[in-house]
Amino acid sequence: MKVVREIMETMEYGPSPEGDQKVRAWLDSHGRKFGVFIDGEWREPGDTRFPAVNPATEEVLAEITESRKVDVDDAVRAAASAFPSWSAAPGPVRARYLYALARQLQKRARFFAVLESMDNGKPIRETRDFDVPMAVRWLYHHAGWAQIVGDEYPDLAPVGVVGQIIPWNFPLLMLAWKVAPALAAGNTVVLKPAEQTSLTALAFAELCQKVGLPAGVVNIVTGGGQVGEHIVDHPEIAKLAFTGSTEVGRLIRKRTAGSGKRLTLELGGKSPFIVFDDADLDSAIEGVVNGIWFNQGEVCCAGSRLLVQESIAERFLERLRLRMERLRVGDPLDKGIDIGAVIDGTQLERVNRLVEQGESEGASRWQPPCPLPDRGFYYPPTLFTDVSPAATIAQEEIFGPVLVSYSFRTPAEAVQLANNTRYGLAASVWTENINLALDVAAKIKAGTVWINNTNAFDAAVGFGGYRESGFGREGGIEGLREYLAPAWEKGASAPAAGASPLQETENFSADPNESPEAGSETGSGSGSGTETDSGLDTGSDLGSEPPFPLPIDRTAKMYIGGKQVRPDSGYAREIVDPAGRLIGEVGDGNRKDIRNAVEAAHKAASWGEASAHHRAQVLYYIAENLSARMDEFAARIDTLTGCGRSEAEREVEAAIQRLFTYAAWADKYDGHVHRTALTRHATLAMPEPIGVIGIVCPHQLPLLGFVSLVAPAIAMGNTVVVVPSEPHALAATDLYQVLDTSDVPGGVVNIVTGDGIALGRVLAEHDDVDSVWYFGEPEGRAVVEEASAGNMKRTWVDYAAGRDWYAPGQGEGRTFLWEATQIKNIWIPYGE
Ligand code: NAD
Repeated sequence: MKVVREIMETMEYGPSPEGDQKVRAWLDSHGRKFGVFIDGEWREPGDTRFPAVNPATEEVLAEITESRKVDVDDAVRAAASAFPSWSAAPGPVRARYLYALARQLQKRARFFAVLESMDNGKPIRETRDFDVPMAVRWLYHHAGWAQIVGDEYPDLAPVGVVGQIIPWNFPLLMLAWKVAPALAAGNTVVLKPAEQTSLTALAFAELCQKVGLPAGVVNIVTGGGQVGEHIVDHPEIAKLAFTGSTEVGRLIRKRTAGSGKRLTLELGGKSPFIVFDDADLDSAIEGVVNGIWFNQGEVCCAGSRLLVQESIAERFLERLRLRMERLRVGDPLDKGIDIGAVIDGTQLERVNRLVEQGESEGASRWQPPCPLPDRGFYYPPTLFTDVSPAATIAQEEIFGPVLVSYSFRTPAEAVQLANNTRYGLAASVWTENINLALDVAAKIKAGTVWINNTNAFDAAVGFGGYRESGFGREGGIEGLREYLAPAWEKGASAPAAGASPLQETENFSADPNESPEAGSETGSGSGSGTETDSGLDTGSDLGSEPPFPLPIDRTAKMYIGGKQVRPDSGYAREIVDPAGRLIGEVGDGNRKDIRNAVEAAHKAASWGEASAHHRAQVLYYIAENLSARMDEFAARIDTLTGCGRSEAEREVEAAIQRLFTYAAWADKYDGHVHRTALTRHATLAMPEPIGVIGIVCPHQLPLLGFVSLVAPAIAMGNTVVVVPSEPHALAATDLYQVLDTSDVPGGVVNIVTGDGIALGRVLAEHDDVDSVWYFGEPEGRAVVEEASAGNMKRTWVDYAAGRDWYAPGQGEGRTFLWEATQIKNIWIPYGE
């Protein structure tokens, strides 16, 4: 007779299907046809429809509307007219609605879980235990934010109508991630679900009706990429939040360049899963299963690259294969299924193609014996070994149940391999040594690092990418902040008196000898400035008065890697006073100078590892040395801008104050320890430097503008390549003498003078620049945003009209620190 243990080990799973009657009845009640949800009501716009297909059975569940441009226009109009009253509603009122939505969703949890599983092909076990409860949690958490956001952030305001475009891998959850913070902050939304998975968004629209959400606050339009494009292009959309492929993200970056729309992108990933030899291997194996086979591997942060320490690699992979043999692939509505269907035939084809490519590039494929259903889009769990880190399957996001593995010897090698990707969404680190775990976590370039766990998410914790995984965060205060803007920016309309960039441009470009392109490698640009052979007077009409107090023959050099250098172009730009008289020259920087400066900035990366206290000391020292040269700088500014001596002194004094401010902030801009719904986790939200920031300074206030941007960037540990005020560059070039005497390590601040737009473009195009801040002439905004799409770097482009650089809320403060940092969330479990 068999003993119980034997029975338990040999027993097969019986089928345990979840009923789908309620979902079918709901589909029937809609005649299996859906319109779109605009202005609080259902509309049946055109006749163009497309099928919602169940990927597990290929059954057509319903017909969905392909929205037209007029429908998107209507939706945006509805959202725009709902915005004033929704944004003005007291926080507690908005909180009630979000709370009601959470309750309604919670009460219909099983219905949504089944619907999601049928529409997407993911196992009911996951929709029931993860997607829906997490969406509910998101709504509750943000009901809380709605309640307190006004008191907590009185200086911030909602941005307006938000366009939200989401993918098919977590349809309802991505909707909640987008809608909840947007509404909590007081925005109204137009959301488009992915064409493969519209049904839960449409069911959510019914909840909006049910709770009496004011018409127009949430609008849902369905359809494919073209509908997405209509949203992206709509002029009344103030912000776009997109989750999906890096390819489309890049397209959106380019399409919105120069439009002034705020943008957050949550894109792909190729996240490392690192197992050290002292890890708890059983837990790590379960971690791998969760990391790559959760949701069929269709997860942007999937642990798709397994890095195992060489000494345990063979043993670990053997155990993993055994575990893979027990994974069950099949009907997603069966509660005992681990892996469901991939989203559609196109995605299945993509997975097949990449797997074939992996084999043709020499990697070994292993799949457990695994019966697959006859119909539907299924793919078995797959493991690749003998993978070269440079192979296509090690670099490209497969977005399917395919794991690639390779080994490493030392922690340093693990970090190097982990970071050998253009992405930076997440990482998972497995070791029992907390010192090693935290050291590796700090060195990995990714927005989320899980220690001894993986795929942990919570509404209180920001989630989002470094590098080509996008920018912006979703979740917690980090995510909420993306739906808020400084209140003054929304109110300001006219440039502040005495600080008109236009006036100054006119003065500057009045020179008849202007020839913006001559000899410059940097290509097109606004070219406001004159150029001559270095040091030679080409006979421009300088007037008869000798320019005072600066001698003409002085050509300020650039400042790269802590050294004064001549421009590569061999050309100089004349700097003239408001009367057009030559008062000096600066180098005309080009692509090569920027390249050298970026290289120097990278070499100085240890600045980011210096203690915040040390960085504060250096900033104080700069302030002290600037103060000692107050008269000289004031005289220089007065000569350059003609602002008058007392105004010039005010500017220097403000610059000194600003350095003090950021010295103060250096060790006080803290992160958070988030309170998540998971117990026994410390989740550390750590603001990290972004890396190398390219900064194009405003024309006006040449010293204060420069210091206001450079000081927060370096206070937070970044290194910078700065293009100072184009017409008044001499005010900044003199600063290198101050930097030299203030213990600023070479390469932390690099100064390249020249055409702000052209050099801004070069910075934005440069793959080793991590972010660009552009405060130059308005025509350069589009140039910089478009060029940044190359490596999807973050940009901060000043669309605020008439920023008052003297005003603390506008010229300094948390917004600057926010832009100078990116949050890494490190999840640390504790307890035995
Ligand atoms: P996608 O980026 O094309 O689609 C995502 C969303 O963007 C959908 O709603 C889609 O309709 C919309 N869209 C498509 N083209 C658009 C355009 N030009 N303008 C505006 N919106 C547009 O992703 P996909 O085609 O569904 O999947 C392709 C690959 O993207 C996958 O294989 C996977 O690698 C990746 N992906 C990543 C994520 C993620 O969460 N990071 C999600 C889905 C897919």
